[in-house]
This record gives sequence, C-alpha cells and structure tokens, in this order.
Amino acid sequence: MGRDITQCHPSLQALAKKLIQECANQGLKIAIGECFRSVAEQDALYAQGRTRPGDIVTNARGSTYSSMHQWGVAFDFYRNDGEGNYNESGDFFTKVGQIGVSIGLEWGGNWRSPVDKPHFQLPDWGSTPSRLKSTYGNFDNFKNTWGTAPITV
Ligand SMILES: [Zn+2]
Repeated sequence: MGRDITQCHPSLQALAKKLIQECANQGLKIAIGECFRSVAEQDALYAQGRTRPGDIVTNARGSTYSSMHQWGVAFDFYRNDGEGNYNESGDFFTKVGQIGVSIGLEWGGNWRSPVDKPHFQLPDWGSTPSRLKSTYGNFDNFKNTWGTAPITV
C-alpha cells in the first residue's frame, strides 16, 4: 500500500506536515503509514480473508470507491518512538488524535464503528465517500479538481 503522502490531496499533505510538527513539539514522534490506495490495492485487501489467507479487514471492493483512502483524502499514522507502532501507552494515539482535530483533521478515533485511532482524513466532504462518489464518480475526476497551487494552512 502506498505510503507516499504526495499522492494525496494538497490540503491533506499540508495538514499531515503540520500534524507531524505539532506532535513533535509535544514529544510525540509519529510517521505516516498508508495514504493513497488504488482500486487494485483495495481489491487485494478485500480478497484477504475471502479468497486469500488472513482475517477479513474490509467490506469494500475497489470498484465501489468506499474507502476514503481511495480518494486521496485520508492517511494512517503510527507511533515512531521505538515503543511499538500501535502501542497506546501514555494515551499516545488519543493525544495525536486531539492534536489532529485541533488543526482541522477528522480523526477515526472519534468514530463509533469502527473506532480507527491511526486514521485521519479531510473533513470537507463528510465522513464517508458517498458525497465524493455522487459528485465525481471516480478518483480521477476528483483529482482533476485539485489544481497545482500549493495550499498553506
Ligand atoms: Zn485509514
């Protein structure tokens, strides 16, 4: 899966950068995990637990564009201080989540089901991709609206 934040929406890139900095200021060392997920990558994830080994991790087929990661408006983060990538000790993920919300990101840790603490996304199109889907149909149409001017936050 893609860990390249430059494949994501310019606003998300700017906020990810700001988040890393704000967290570092408070002694929380994070790194960016999964960012953009292609249709083929989403299909591979869908196959896990069905036609391939492993546990089921998603109910979304790639062609349905049902993951915000497929729209370039979401990224996951992990703990990067040597204490374990998903170790919540010291309320690590909760603290990072609060910082993210304070700079304008939507945090998956505030969701009811599933609670997704390592996940952030842009709040501009709602919590789910339904508005993006009905407005743009697919990722390429959406990406054409991004423009090239750098966005500062
Ligand atoms: Zn995510």
